[in-house]
Amino acid sequence: RKVCLLAGGVGGAKMAEGLAAHDDVALSVIGNVADDDSFHGLWVSPDIDTLTYSLAGRIDRAQGWGVADEGHRALETLDLLGAETWMSLGDRDFGLHIHRTMRRGRGDRPSDIARDVARAFGVKPAILLPTDDVVQTRLRTTDGRWLSFQEYFVRERCAPEIREIAFSGMDMARPTPEALTAIAGADLIVIAPSNPLVSIAPILGIPGIGEALRAADAPKIAVSPFIAGKVVKGPADRMMAALGLRADALGVARRYRALADRLVIDHADAALGAEIAAEGPAPQCSDILMKTQADKARLAREILDLAFAPV
Ligand code: GDP
Ligand code: CA
Repeated sequence: RKVCLLAGGVGGAKMAEGLAAHDDVALSVIGNVADDDSFHGLWVSPDIDTLTYSLAGRIDRAQGWGVADEGHRALETLDLLGAETWMSLGDRDFGLHIHRTMRRGRGDRPSDIARDVARAFGVKPAILLPTDDVVQTRLRTTDGRWLSFQEYFVRERCAPEIREIAFSGMDMARPTPEALTAIAGADLIVIAPSNPLVSIAPILGIPGIGEALRAADAPKIAVSPFIAGKVVKGPADRMMAALGLRADALGVARRYRALADRLVIDHADAALGAEIAAEGPAPQCSDILMKTQADKARLAREILDLAFAPV
């Protein structure tokens, strides 16, 4: 079965690992490039790298991002030289950023680079970019500043209140043929329990991607990043509340109303089921906290059964 997953970083990678655990799945993951930025002259693509490192079994499992067995000597040198080093980049990780930057400078397509990197790391699923163009999240804070995603997320630890989210370069971005083909050819489309506003939105917003999703006749199943009204991690709850949206599984259901047929929510949110059903995607209760590899594989199997098992 061809499964196409829309995914951000950590939440996306967990879902990707779960789906990749099943031999009857041919998985394509469309990742998020809107967190990309330049550091020390190098192009860094955090969400794509989290997918690659996770699917390669190289991820630092304790923190959920970055490479296992990592060192920070290159950063120490940069620090000594007076560079800003709030963005934690490890020594092993630097190697990938050097390679990516070198190839981008040579004019190689970012999609080709991501594919070759994944292949070199032994990743089986296809890691696809929604666009080869530069699209970047910009967050306007209540004190009137526009921050890049990493400035907000890493440098300022999500402390500022958000007033507005924008994606620079979005209007002019073109979708990659690989992403469009994966969407059109999918037997199932899954929206990972990623941040709806800064991980999934910048994928859906690439001109042509939303249309391709609406035109695809595969079942579309989303998984909630909220459990018992709370996020597992990260700023999605505060961002949704700041934008006047409900910060819970119902808020997620409303976001994906026009897109998803079903929304998998946690048993702890079963009380929201009737309201979710009334608003759009049919709710399905499950245990959606993915701590272990077994949790990830089990949730993925339940999603596959929802889509394919004869009722
Ligand atoms: P990021 O790019 O690293 O911020 O990661 P994503 O956008 O892909 O995922 C962030 C979201 O994943 C957060 O809103 C979390 O609530 C959610 N998340 C993390 N772990 C889990 C999990 O085990 N289960 C579910 N349902 N959501 C999770
Ligand atoms: Ca991210």
